[in-house]
Amino acid sequence: MGSTTMKDQTAAQQGFETLSVHAGAAPDPTTGARTLPIHQSAAFVFKDAKQAADIFQLREMGYSYSRLTNPTVAALEERIAALEGGTGATCTASGLSGHLLILFTLMNAGDEIVASKKLYGGTANQLGLSFSRSFGWKTNFVDPTNPDNFRAAITDRTRAIFVETLSNPEGVIVDLEAIAKIADQAGIPLIVDNTIATPYLCRPFEYGASIVVHSTTKFLNGQGNAMGGCVVDGGKFDWMKHADKFPALTQPDKGYNGIIFAKQFPTMPVAIHNHAVGLRDLGMNQQPMNAWITMNGIETLSMRMERHCTNAIKVAEFLANHAKVAKVNHSALPSSPYNALAKKYLRNGWGGSVFTFAVKDGVDAGKAVQSVKLFSHLANIGDTRSLIIHPASTTHAQMSPEQQKSAGVGPEVVRLSIGIESVEDIIEDLNEALAGA
Ligand SMILES: *Cc1c(COP(=O)(O)O)cnc(C)c1O
Repeated sequence: MGSTTMKDQTAAQQGFETLSVHAGAAPDPTTGARTLPIHQSAAFVFKDAKQAADIFQLREMGYSYSRLTNPTVAALEERIAALEGGTGATCTASGLSGHLLILFTLMNAGDEIVASKKLYGGTANQLGLSFSRSFGWKTNFVDPTNPDNFRAAITDRTRAIFVETLSNPEGVIVDLEAIAKIADQAGIPLIVDNTIATPYLCRPFEYGASIVVHSTTKFLNGQGNAMGGCVVDGGKFDWMKHADKFPALTQPDKGYNGIIFAKQFPTMPVAIHNHAVGLRDLGMNQQPMNAWITMNGIETLSMRMERHCTNAIKVAEFLANHAKVAKVNHSALPSSPYNALAKKYLRNGWGGSVFTFAVKDGVDAGKAVQSVKLFSHLANIGDTRSLIIHPASTTHAQMSPEQQKSAGVGPEVVRLSIGIESVEDIIEDLNEALAGA
């Protein structure tokens, strides 16, 4: 919501790689600095009393206090919005706080969402356990492989559908267009977590999504060195048409002299509300230093994703032919049930670089994971480095064996996030680890 998020009209015509380098980061007008300055300042001086009042009442877009807006964070917001084809964005301290931010804007106590059952484990806990206990937001989880399951679970309290483009860790691809149509018919927004696909592989707004959320901690940052999240406003959902469902956006706001966000800011009401009310009251703003690190990471997003994906396909093919491997879940393999959806929704039909494989009976998956040398054994994805973990004993250990099976992370399953190293070295490391298992 800083001044930079409002101005970029040329962005729509530029290519993805150009936007990755330039969107949000013109030379600094005061100093001429070519790279984005880190505005490590809690507050910003007003020109005069009128400007102070105008900024506080949202009559002027400007900086007052970094819990609400900060110029370095605004630059990252503009860049991510441009890459996704959205109208505005709001960065947060982490991916999960971005989920809290958007649901805070859309939900009242007693409201519901319908969510895919195939979600990142942290999101499943957040939506399924904590949000219902603390805020009274109920989540109905459905099998996303049949879009009709979403329609069947919608009630008159449902305020959004939530899915992942390419799910973590199983790589399930959802039929975005079909699910967006169901959301549209129900008069509710489709929220898409595009963390694993990134806008390089898929731009959910092109298929009818209303809101895109990211953990920028993963591929957007790309180097595993700064936490962050982002909520992107698609700018197309007609909030006033469904005014009774979304009072935060459609009723006069008492904190801002009775303005109605959906009328006052018709192109990006969600992005403005997320700053002016969401970050103001919840306070999970992203730090300028982290925004700056992520800005640098995004400059190489397309080159990294290309290498991540081509490496991952070679590793998936190697594993699919390995004597100790029972199954590889990668949507670029013709054997994958999601291969057709990958071709429809993901650039070049590439299935991303995060996937799982299952070892055969009698092979010890846990032992294979801890025998790697090049791979890092840790709980993260989307790093330049190749990463490996055994979900059943770590990220999904709290689940019962039946739940693990349904989430696709039984004891025989290993999760990989393939990095950008030489693919021969990645394959050799896995080969040796499997030999010892
Ligand atoms: C990691 C992840 C998140 C959570 O993001 P944090 O930055 O760790 O809070 C959300 N969704 C997906 C798909 C993820 O992989």
